[in-house]
Amino acid sequence: MIVVEGLYKQFGETEVLKGIDMTVEKGKVVVIIGPSGSGKTTLLRCLNVLEVPTKGKITIGEKTLDFAKPVAKKEIHAFRQLTGMVFQNYNLFPHMTALENVMEGLVTVKKEPKEQARQRAMKLLEKVGLTEQADRYPFQLSGGQQQRVGIARALAMEPSVMLFDEPTSALDPELVGEVLKVMKDVANEGMTMVVVTHEMRFAKEVADEVIFMDRGIVVERGTPSQLFEHPQQERTRQFLQLIQ
Ligand code: ADP
Repeated sequence: MIVVEGLYKQFGETEVLKGIDMTVEKGKVVVIIGPSGSGKTTLLRCLNVLEVPTKGKITIGEKTLDFAKPVAKKEIHAFRQLTGMVFQNYNLFPHMTALENVMEGLVTVKKEPKEQARQRAMKLLEKVGLTEQADRYPFQLSGGQQQRVGIARALAMEPSVMLFDEPTSALDPELVGEVLKVMKDVANEGMTMVVVTHEMRFAKEVADEVIFMDRGIVVERGTPSQLFEHPQQERTRQFLQLIQ
């Protein structure tokens, strides 16, 4: 479903991604871990072209973008529709209710009739356990509820891939579980997912593959048990010792 080949990203003089290769099969969950500043968020933002890579190729499904040459805005926009992104700070529209946040893309991007969009959005809110909060504004919701709206909003666009950028790291500890549960449900329905997270339990329970990144490269990858119990690289061992 996703193939990343020789991906580089530079900010000014700083090379943040230094030749990333990565494959994610359809329906699989890949968790990316690594020290702060290693390029995890940048990689995720390149996958939906919120950041334009300096060079390399990204394929999602049937579509490939090659960043060796400049890519047209229109192509980037079309490519972005293939992914749903869930952000650390939810990024909900503050002046819209939960329901309106989920409906927004359906009406403006997918051009669905309002009533149809409303019904689909209500179904998605039900799925994330927020039927009763549909008419509340983000400021009237807990962080965990806001993030669940964020997940419903991304799912509404029926993406091929869901990308999660540290979805629980802004939450109070007691609210983390409800968001992880929704993510597990989404995974169990067969969604292809790439998740940057510090939640090692989630990685162990849900990931098909864990990727360890450091300083802009993929140092090591494997199943959760390979990576957590039998890391092959010294850098991976050091990182795991620090966080466990
Ligand atoms: P991680 O998610 O692993 O913590 P990031 O991808 O957020 O790492 O950041 C990797 C490096 O790239 C950091 O040194 C960060 O300062 C730098 N960086 C990220 N975004 C930008 C940007 N827009 N402009 C300049 N530097 C950036």
